[in-house]
Amino acid sequence: MAALRTALHGRLLQTLPFSVGSLRLASSFKASDLVIERSTENKPKPDPSSLLFGKQFSDHMLTVCWSEKSGWEAPHIKPFQNLSLHPASSALHYSIELFEGMKAFRGVDNHVRLFRPMLNMERMHRSADRSCLPLFDKSELLQCIRKLVEVDQEWVPYSQDASLYIRPTFIGTEPSLGVARPGKALIFVIVSPVGPYFSTGSFSPVSLLADPAFVRSWQGGVGAYKMGGNYGPTIAVQNEAVKRGCQQVLWLYGKEEEITEVGTMNLFIYWTNEDGEKELVTPPLDGIILPGVTRQSLLDLARDWGEFRVTERTMTMSELLSALGAGRVLEVFGAGTACVVCPVGSLLYQEETFQIPTVQNDGGLARRFHTELTDIQYGRKASDWAPMVV
Ligand SMILES: *Cc1c(COP(=O)(O)O)cnc(C)c1O
Repeated sequence: MAALRTALHGRLLQTLPFSVGSLRLASSFKASDLVIERSTENKPKPDPSSLLFGKQFSDHMLTVCWSEKSGWEAPHIKPFQNLSLHPASSALHYSIELFEGMKAFRGVDNHVRLFRPMLNMERMHRSADRSCLPLFDKSELLQCIRKLVEVDQEWVPYSQDASLYIRPTFIGTEPSLGVARPGKALIFVIVSPVGPYFSTGSFSPVSLLADPAFVRSWQGGVGAYKMGGNYGPTIAVQNEAVKRGCQQVLWLYGKEEEITEVGTMNLFIYWTNEDGEKELVTPPLDGIILPGVTRQSLLDLARDWGEFRVTERTMTMSELLSALGAGRVLEVFGAGTACVVCPVGSLLYQEETFQIPTVQNDGGLARRFHTELTDIQYGRKASDWAPMVV
């Protein structure tokens, strides 16, 4: 009787209009319902030294379907395959799409670890809410992803310069053209072995184009969410940067020309501030900045060290240039899952190139962050930031 009541209750929750905020959670899929269909033929694993970003995929994928009518279905791990989508699917027309980027690492002890994966699940959940996609239980999705990595564990490169990139994706599959909350949706997760961001140990600084004509994100917009629609339009700007001899884009915002992010990385400035103190500065999460897991980790580490001031505040282009002129800028770097940290070597702004100091040897802050995080990721240093999968 109780079981029947629970079952009925479950159905009821699933069929309620899902704008009933707190009830949306009650109808999450469960990792314990996972259905696993193993692939019969396994593709050859690529040589870790020859990997190109996001071009090769493992043998399996995770899928979880949702519909307004029946709620979440059981999650599936199945052989890697094409999706079959209705051509009117809302992801294809209105970019009802979001994604995450995280990695699994094979450690020195041969155990496979993730890096602060709940931060990715929380960000994905926020993106889903903003996209009018159905909500889900974050730890159930993480359990499913852990299982996928376990099934494809041989795809985690046997290398401390490489890793398995994990791409959770969530799309609206509503088969109708109305601009409306989708009544059907799909979460899928694919994984791809990736090589080092910097070729063979070199920690080479990038050159940036800073042109206020281009805007990535704005107040009231959705730049703080990892929605696909934020990224497609940046490709032309990236191409413009390359055309002008730069490697990446420094995104500026507003009349004051606030410096916000570098390409798809968060931005850090290590300088001597106006009061003569050493200070690490990064723009605050005020709506136009993507809340990076790496960003959070650098802030947490630096605050824990307590060796210099750590400040989340906006900095304008003119502040940066005057500090550069006064020799007060020590290092500038980007931070993200792909590279951990990436030093910035120069800026092209209003037809003028400004050199930024970089610390080539050990002793620089960017290098220290890189060592600290990769030590944790590859199990050279124990930390509860890097839970083991296998
Ligand atoms: C993903 C991303 C970052 C970095 O986030 P991580 O979680 O550290 O990988 C920074 N900026 C933008 C615009 C991004 O899309």
